[in-house]
Amino acid sequence: MPAIKPAFVPLDGIKEQPRAVALLRAALESHRIAHAYAFVGAEGSGRATTALAFAQSLLCERETGCGSCRHCRMVVTRQHPDLHVIEPTPPASNPKGPRAIRIEAIRDVEREAGLRPVMAARKVFVLDDADRMTGESPEAFLKTLEEPPDRTVMILVLARTRAVPPTVLSRCQLVRFARRASEKRPEHAEALRWQGIERLLLRGDRIEREKAEGMVDAWWIWCRDLLLVKAGGPPALLANADRAGDLERASAAWSLDGILGAIELCRRARTALAHNVSPRLTIEIIVSRLLLAGA
Ligand SMILES: [Zn+2]
Repeated sequence: MPAIKPAFVPLDGIKEQPRAVALLRAALESHRIAHAYAFVGAEGSGRATTALAFAQSLLCERETGCGSCRHCRMVVTRQHPDLHVIEPTPPASNPKGPRAIRIEAIRDVEREAGLRPVMAARKVFVLDDADRMTGESPEAFLKTLEEPPDRTVMILVLARTRAVPPTVLSRCQLVRFARRASEKRPEHAEALRWQGIERLLLRGDRIEREKAEGMVDAWWIWCRDLLLVKAGGPPALLANADRAGDLERASAAWSLDGILGAIELCRRARTALAHNVSPRLTIEIIVSRLLLAGA
């Protein structure tokens, strides 16, 4: 599912992510553009759309994404020679095999990044679904990040910060994408209704490992936020900063031991998933225990 195919939307047209857009606008206006960005958020939160819109502004003659210069127009049709979008691909030998960002693609990025821009002031690389860098790819990509070629901007589109090594992440400016209103995150036992997990389990749908990992991670981060709130930590440190009010209310219903237990449960669930325990079983267990803990 290439995420980047939907119709082009300019930066001003992205209304659902005001914070991310404001941060990028500020960078453009102050001409302080980082070498690398990590756009982190759930699938469907507009990460890839925003990456393309930001790329347009970066390549635009006026650095605004004016929409009318030739650079802007070429970005819209995806024909700008200085815009490179890298997406996961199946193995060359098996078109139905697992999609990944392979070492060959990263080597191409490295080579291409070393060349001068063709027509704009810089080159922009968008690594969509960068969570899917496999094997030596993250390590190879790190080299490019460590010695960033002049006039290049890398944008990694990620679902989770933990999907790439911290060494890679630490070289990127983090831009977080809030969940869309329709997918908002729940309070403790409410967490289970989020993404319709209860229904999913009742219907007996197959749960993919990756999806199970995503659910566990979301609960893990939620619990970590609960802990922070319970300890009176600063709201700025919350991963779900946009849900500070909900976290505040939810934390009142949890005991400290309950939260610590839930975090431990998430940790064990993640290990179980890594050791090939059935994703469905893992989710069922965690759901039933979280229901007990949050009841
Ligand atoms: Zn323009």
